[in-house]
Formats: sequence, structure tokens, C-alpha cells
Amino acid sequence: MDLRVRALESILVEKGYVDPAALDVLVDTYETKIGPRNGARVVARAWTDPSFRDWLRRDATAAIDSLGYSGRQGEHMVVVENTPDTHNVVVCTLCSCYPWPVLGLPPVWYKAAPYRSRVVLDPRGVLADFGLSLPPQTRIRVWDSTAEIRYLVLPMRPAGTDGWDEARLADLVTRDSMIGTGLPLSPGAGATAGARP
Ligand code: FE
Repeated sequence: MDLRVRALESILVEKGYVDPAALDVLVDTYETKIGPRNGARVVARAWTDPSFRDWLRRDATAAIDSLGYSGRQGEHMVVVENTPDTHNVVVCTLCSCYPWPVLGLPPVWYKAAPYRSRVVLDPRGVLADFGLSLPPQTRIRVWDSTAEIRYLVLPMRPAGTDGWDEARLADLVTRDSMIGTGLPLSPGAGATAGARP
């Protein structure tokens, strides 16, 4: 795959269809400037502002755009909301579709065949591999990204955070909690837990 991409890139550059400097800027932007903190801000806003949460339900693309997060791979956003009864998990079974403007670039496991195939067949087992055990009565819904739609999981607000402001809440929102393979941190758990490479 790596070789194919390189070959394709050199042909496109040779023919003058792409500028290598522009590609570098794009990659750098998504690698270092855009990351899951954008998504965390969306989630924290939804936790504190019921009208924003409603807007997310009705038109996630526009609601997210209002915070300044839009662009490639975020043109058709759908927010799926966790409840005590239902837990949502996102995958792209075909490849690696992922909401770049809110989460940055996908982690390696998201693009790997084992996650993409197993999460559909055995979501509970995959979540257990991530250290996430849900009550047996919780229904797990798996959302398969299409060529256009990108999903963002809205996790449940952790207990014990009454009165917290948006910035403080955003620190509890992990990347995995917005994919559905994790939960937000608990208050007092520290900001280092819950992240996977
Ligand atoms: Fe894909």
C-alpha cells in the first residue's frame, strides 16, 4: 500500500496535478493542528448546552461547523448519542473513513482489518479488548461509515461533573469515547488515562 501511494503521488506530482508542498501542509495540518480536542469541544458543548445538543441531533454538520470545524471528511456529519440503553461504536468496514475535522487522523487500529471485521461480528468482544465492559442489557449499535457520512459518538456525561464548565468537561472526553471504543474519563481519573496510540 505504501509503495502504491508513493507511486501514485510521484505520477501526480510529475504531471503537475498536485504540489508536494501543498500535500505536506495538508498532512501536517491533520497530524499536528487538528486532533480529537476539536471533537472534545463539540461533546462538552453538547453536555452543557441543550440547544446545541438539539442542533447536533438535527444537523450535526452545521452545528459542528458553527464551532469552526469543517472541511475534508467532515462534510456530512452524523452524531450518535449514547444513552443508558444504547452504546454506539463507529467503524469503516471498507477502509478508514473517519471524521477528520473533529478527530484528526484515525489511529492505526481503526484502519486495521481485525477491528474493521470483528467489531461488526462481535462488538462486545472488541470493546472488551479495549477494556470496556458494558452492562449486558446495554444494546450496542455499530455504525458503518459510508463514502460520505462520518459519525461522531456523543458519550454520556460522566457523573459527578455538575457545575463543571465546558473547558473542564472537554478534558474528560477521550478520542476513543468519540469512536465508541472507550468512555470519557471519570472526574479525578487524571487526563493521561484512556488514550491509545
Ligand atoms: Fe472508509
